[in-house]
Amino acid sequence: MTLPAPARAEYDEFRVDFAAWLDEHGADLEPLRTLPEDIHEQHRTQSRVQRLLFDHGWLRRGWPEEVGGLGGSKVVRGALAEALTERGYEYPFAMGMIEVLGSAMVKFAEPELGAEMFPRFLAGEEYWAQGFSEPEAGSDLGSLRTRAVDQGDHWRLTGQKIWTTWGQFAQRGVVLARTGEQAQGFAGITALFIDMDSPGVDVRTLRAMNGTDEFCEMFFDDVIVPKSRTMGAVGGGAKFTMAVLESERGVFAWQRQTWLLRRLSDLLAEPGIDERAAGRIGEVYATLYGLRLRARDTFRRVVAGELIGPQSSVDKMLLSTAEKGVFDVAFELLADDTLLGDGSVNRAWRSDYLYARASSIYGGTAEIQRNILAERILGLPRER
Ligand SMILES: Cc1cc2nc3c(=O)[nH]c(=O)nc-3n(C[C@H](O)[C@H](O)[C@H](O)COP(=O)(O)OP(=O)(O)OC[C@H]3O[C@@H](n4cnc5c(N)ncnc54)[C@H](O)[C@@H]3O)c2cc1C
Repeated sequence: MTLPAPARAEYDEFRVDFAAWLDEHGADLEPLRTLPEDIHEQHRTQSRVQRLLFDHGWLRRGWPEEVGGLGGSKVVRGALAEALTERGYEYPFAMGMIEVLGSAMVKFAEPELGAEMFPRFLAGEEYWAQGFSEPEAGSDLGSLRTRAVDQGDHWRLTGQKIWTTWGQFAQRGVVLARTGEQAQGFAGITALFIDMDSPGVDVRTLRAMNGTDEFCEMFFDDVIVPKSRTMGAVGGGAKFTMAVLESERGVFAWQRQTWLLRRLSDLLAEPGIDERAAGRIGEVYATLYGLRLRARDTFRRVVAGELIGPQSSVDKMLLSTAEKGVFDVAFELLADDTLLGDGSVNRAWRSDYLYARASSIYGGTAEIQRNILAERILGLPRER
């Protein structure tokens, strides 16, 4: 499938205009080239640059005017991450979550809520956390136990979430809660938008194996959530979750492959990497390029307004294979430095290698993606 002509023209024009802007504002974006190692500093740096991209309109392109965007085709949202990484910058981390949670808000929340809240997320004034997983409910979200009890004009929320990426920085959370009976499974789940500074919200950081406080636990103790913060229909959590997960498995993959290509080119520039490594690097490049083609097709379908559906599990499988592949090969070729070196470049390879282990877990595990492929695409018998 090719891009419709108007979207293609907008993409080309965006690329030219943004390249010219980058030529002029390169110095302002320099902090994105090598991010600070401290996660708080990283968050501050990325939010600052995000604000700059918002103020100059780049981040607002491709989002509806009703939620603070400038309208136009979604294709420019994909072009932005690509253009930044091609110049050697990281794209602000929140851009991934904006695709994942922001798109769902635009689709499901009351228009007034989207108009009030979404621009703050887009501008980097706020970060939103994804409160889906629980200690006993990760792959099987239908069994989650966080409960929201109907109190007339508000919900009373009680329960616990876990593995919440950047929860410590979040001003808002998008939380899945049970509003029906446990036996209803997914049919009794509703998505809520909460203020993280509400009384009864407690956030505790968790250290990931690369040494960063990447994620959090969130505890809710009788938290009052106004009914106007319900996202989509009561009991409509399944639809909401599918939309979020499809973006996470599909659109997110497009952004991430731009970064992986950049990291592979960083590897080529490392001293001692020569033609002897060509075979291994070539293998990884082929997988990464497969991901790129696949993710491009998914992004085109998003641009054309099509539903992504279970096909995005193919993207997610390719993403985890490519992400592990890039850092496995880096680890093999730079083994001593990566294991023992204490320079910031060594630490970055080490951290990325360890983080890559999570790529077959976040956004749905590899086993779950294989189940989806088997059952929903190949039509094999369902597991249960
Ligand atoms: C880096 C990172 C960031 C994350 N960020 C967030 C976040 O911001 N918000 C959030 O809500 N969650 C987040 N998560 C959590 C993530 O979504 C869950 O870890 C994931 O869905 C798996 O759930 P689980 O950890 O409970 O494992 P489980 O579901 O308990 O799975 C354990 C193992 O059993 C396998 N398994 C489970 N069910 C089946 C089955 N039916 N068939 C075959 N195998 C099966 C799994 O594949 C896995 O290997 C993050 C995770 C990581 C690693």
